[in-house]
Amino acid sequence: MYKIITIGEALIDFIPNQKGCMLKEVTGFERVAGGAPANVAAAVAKLSGNAYFISQLGQDAFGDHIVDVLNEANVNTDYVLRTNKANTGLAFVSLKEDGNRDFSFYRNPSADMLLEDNQIQEEWFKDCKVLHFCSVDLVESPMKYAHKKAIEYASNNNAIISFDPNVRLPLWENHEECRSVILEFLPMSHIVKISDEELEFITGIKDESEALESLFVGNVKAVIYTKGPDGACFITRKNGIIKNVEGKGIKVKAIDTTGAGDSFIGSFLYQLGRKNINLSNIEDIDEKTLEGIIAFSNKYAADTTTKKGAISAMCTLKDLE
Ligand code: ATP
Repeated sequence: MYKIITIGEALIDFIPNQKGCMLKEVTGFERVAGGAPANVAAAVAKLSGNAYFISQLGQDAFGDHIVDVLNEANVNTDYVLRTNKANTGLAFVSLKEDGNRDFSFYRNPSADMLLEDNQIQEEWFKDCKVLHFCSVDLVESPMKYAHKKAIEYASNNNAIISFDPNVRLPLWENHEECRSVILEFLPMSHIVKISDEELEFITGIKDESEALESLFVGNVKAVIYTKGPDGACFITRKNGIIKNVEGKGIKVKAIDTTGAGDSFIGSFLYQLGRKNINLSNIEDIDEKTLEGIIAFSNKYAADTTTKKGAISAMCTLKDLE
């Protein structure tokens, strides 16, 4: 299996013991290791892929816990650095009655945001085939430039770049800044994963097909469009022709959708490696293979929603089969 690296935040989500109330009314929380790029690495590793995670954590108990959880999931944490200059990031979550979440972040700044570009080593990318990142750690901080360095090194080594914007608006000064940074990083990516809830915000376009087409800028060769319980599509454009392969969602009794998108993209990237797909031509993957990959990812992500949490809810390949 080839090496997949994810970069970005790992933090502790404090999940409320009560549902349907505002954050100020919550009296008890459960500690859960999370952060989208960490979740994606965990999905790859739990499925038996070769996953590495680049980040920085505080020299604190929460940092220790995150490392333990990642190691338990079989993620290689050699590139997770530690610092005493800041604490590990925290996010307090409140759950609305409909299952949607509100976040209150404690990152002012957190240890991950202080990771500098000169701490990223080119040799980490020598045998790396995929680099995946998200947008939370693209806020103005040294970590934004660490991402640029990682993308540069990964590209020098012919890895493909995968980007899940995973919009978290409360972290940004304003909506426009979030949107413009996502649009800055979009052309550097080969695969973009976007959800139906983010599409209009990111593109500024109401019409769905027009909005999806507008994502094909710069290096973008493929868009993975996820639609919650309705499944996902893999859209490619070659010589101006758009191809769309769709996979229906799997009916499950979802109890917590945290990490659904991360388990989808993690299992997707894992399968590209498992099936030995030629990554320099992802736009040429044949339709049957793609249908199989999407069906697998829909199944894996749906299964994750049937349990509480993100990493703890992700199953192994054996469990899934
Ligand atoms: P999140 O931010 O909650 O991690 P996302 O918004 O990035 O997720 P979604 O489109 O909500 O992404 O979900 C990703 C995938 O997870 C879907 O394509 C689908 O395969 C699966 N999924 C999500 N919600 C459900 C559900 N209620 N039932 C079945 N499958 C689901």
